[in-house]
Amino acid sequence: MLVIDISVPIAPTLPVYPGDPPPRIARIADCAHGDLAIVSTIAAAVHVGTHVDAPSHFLPDGGGVETLPLDALIGEAVVVDVTAARGHLDRTTLERLGLAPGERRVLFKTVGEDALGRPHPAADWIGILPDGAAWLVEQGVRLVGVDTLSCAPLDDPAPTHQVLLRAGVVILEGLDLRSVAPGRYHLVCLPLRIPGADGSPARAVLLVE
Ligand SMILES: [Zn+2]
Repeated sequence: MLVIDISVPIAPTLPVYPGDPPPRIARIADCAHGDLAIVSTIAAAVHVGTHVDAPSHFLPDGGGVETLPLDALIGEAVVVDVTAARGHLDRTTLERLGLAPGERRVLFKTVGEDALGRPHPAADWIGILPDGAAWLVEQGVRLVGVDTLSCAPLDDPAPTHQVLLRAGVVILEGLDLRSVAPGRYHLVCLPLRIPGADGSPARAVLLVE
């Protein structure tokens, strides 16, 4: 079985969503200084790197990250290449992708392999417009993944998030799909269990039998 890691490394140099602090990892105990073990702390937004959004991120009455259904985060997923898209993804664009009926997890690859070595995720990303999000909900999709730091256009993030979160769709952001070919995989994504949190970093992998 091949395991493809589609998570980004959490490091101080990792690009973060505009306004979020960069992650800080600090060593608070160190054998080299006479301590029994090395112990580090991490300080970061819960939306750092590869992460999921909880309903409460954009819905006042939404649940925390601990309420996300784990069965939506694990299972068959399709990686769709939209690197050639011009502009954000609306209903018409998504309809033309030819998603098979019954797809439950859709991962959008917006950054091509030519981006290898460049800062990732890109700042000028392709987002999903609210009518595109509504179309995904109508198809019965339970998880939407993107390889950027937001599933929505940067200048108007709320409507897309609200459409998806209100429908119970899990939003997975900050993936690294640059080396992943379009096609079908088995997704395993496990966010941390942080009661009440509006999101959580997650380790996400694709399994190939
Ligand atoms: Zn987020």
